[in-house]
Amino acid sequence: MKKTIRQLLLASITLAASAVAFAAKPLAGPKGGKIVTTAAPHAEFFVEKDRKVTITFYDQSLKPLALTGQVVTAVAEAKTGKVGLEFAAKGGSLVSNVALPKGDDYTVVLQVRDTASARPKIYRVEFHDEVCKECKRAEYACACDDTGEKKHDHKH
Ligand SMILES: [Zn+2]
Repeated sequence: MKKTIRQLLLASITLAASAVAFAAKPLAGPKGGKIVTTAAPHAEFFVEKDRKVTITFYDQSLKPLALTGQVVTAVAEAKTGKVGLEFAAKGGSLVSNVALPKGDDYTVVLQVRDTASARPKIYRVEFHDEVCKECKRAEYACACDDTGEKKHDHKH
């Protein structure tokens, strides 16, 4: 009996440890953007070269999902003022009507509704557009684990 309890304890400690290890490593968005969700269906926030934002949805193995009527809006809280972004379907993703404001180091607040009448889910993205030296991704979409992230040197 004692042995069983000890085995159970050991098993739950191992489970907790692996859950922490999993959480420390962010999912890498297939387009090079940030996966804002913690569970499927996943949503990726990606900033295009023209600074328009693309939102793409994925299943648990990061295979692209077709749009199913999601409604996304965003507010870029830039230092020069807040800018509202609206999204329309294009090529299987949702693309913003306007580009992100100049500069970086500001928060983009995303509102994702599964349908037009669903309650919004709110995600915050800290937008940094410099490239991470370690994973070579844009800093806002950095996929380094926590240990790597602490080494990052934001020159702001
Ligand atoms: Zn990185």
